[in-house]
Amino acid sequence: MNSVERAIRAGVVGTDTEERLVCQDCGMPLETHDHDRVGWRRSCPNCGRMWKQVHETETATRTATGDAE
Ligand SMILES: [Zn+2]
Repeated sequence: MNSVERAIRAGVVGTDTEERLVCQDCGMPLETHDHDRVGWRRSCPNCGRMWKQVHETETATRTATGDAE
């Protein structure tokens, strides 16, 4: 699965005026799916392509502390 960042650089995914991620081919805002260890899975509801969205700054600490709080 490609990352959202790579898709943005490739021009496959863009952002709209509210900075939501959109599929450039379909013009559809991406759906957000379950969070896993590396981030969120985002998909286009029209063409079904899926990308992973990694949150680098939060992953390490969240993984280490779990749901302690
Ligand atoms: Zn699409």
